[in-house]
Amino acid sequence: MQYCVKCRRVCEDGLPKCPGCRSRKLRPAGEGDQAFLCCADMYAAGRINEALIESGIQCSLESEGSAYYNFDSASMPTDQNIYVPYKELERAGGIASGILKEVELERSPEGDGGDSRPGVKRIIGEVLSVAAFLLLIMLAVYGTDSFAAWLKELLGMG
Ligand SMILES: [Zn+2]
Repeated sequence: MQYCVKCRRVCEDGLPKCPGCRSRKLRPAGEGDQAFLCCADMYAAGRINEALIESGIQCSLESEGSAYYNFDSASMPTDQNIYVPYKELERAGGIASGILKEVELERSPEGDGGDSRPGVKRIIGEVLSVAAFLLLIMLAVYGTDSFAAWLKELLGMG
């Protein structure tokens, strides 16, 4: 395996450039290299960190925001990059994917009994704001005259 000096990702032998950052500064991966494991949000990264320490794997977390090479717009500035020693990369990868699945389950609506469904609430909120927006357009299109008349009637001034 090759190791990218710039972004610390490990990639397959024979690649001319790092698939992560396009750097050509690749060298054979050594056992002591801190290698990029994965990127996760703060909560998931914390959980992975704990699990790795429990398994005796020395890992380090770095804020995604400081990573200039990452152009993934889906990532948050608070996301954490997790690095582990290259020799533990495979074992750490297994642990991390297990934790990520757990976190995903915790966050899925079926996972917590189904009473609190922020997804549905969000959709209702969006529908309501669209309805309010349409109402405003209708008021503008059908003129303020009829609206004023309705308002007068409502206030008993008609
Ligand atoms: Zn790289």
